[in-house]
Amino acid sequence: MLLNVQKLINAPGERMDFQFQLDLSDVDFGGLYPARNPVVVTGGVRNAAGMLLLEFTAETVLQSVCDRCLKSFKNPKSVRREYLLAEKLENGENDDIVLLEDGTVDLGDLARTAFILEMDTKTLCSEDCKGICPGCGVNLNQGSCTCKKAADPRWAALAQLLKKDTDQEETQ
Ligand SMILES: [Zn+2]
Ligand SMILES: [Zn+2]
Repeated sequence: MLLNVQKLINAPGERMDFQFQLDLSDVDFGGLYPARNPVVVTGGVRNAAGMLLLEFTAETVLQSVCDRCLKSFKNPKSVRREYLLAEKLENGENDDIVLLEDGTVDLGDLARTAFILEMDTKTLCSEDCKGICPGCGVNLNQGSCTCKKAADPRWAALAQLLKKDTDQEETQ
């Protein structure tokens, strides 16, 4: 999605709005492809006192998988960005300044990069997801563990060690 903003360059107070869809369904996040729905990008460019300001929101509902309980769930995601558009760079590099090429900005590329950079490295169905019991495999958000009562041999060994420690302290 290319937007030509040439006619805004010398027109203070003017703005152009846009909306388009991005397809990120081929983007791999840790072996999953959560962006099955289109990402809708809505925004505008305006000339504010001679400066070209671009702002947009990219949003979708991801189909995510919880890292803790492995449940598949709908995960709304919205990313908002603002940039300055310039015909040339005045003083060096700046991440918030986007250079125009022949008065044109590649909105698709900007939105795609911004959205991908904002993807969470950790995905949880809820902040307090209890996860899955490693012993019996039950989803602890849905049911209670059936193996809790059976003593885990590793814990028994640890309990022994701790007991020894306290015994030694007592004899010192
Ligand atoms: Zn979960
Ligand atoms: Zn269990």
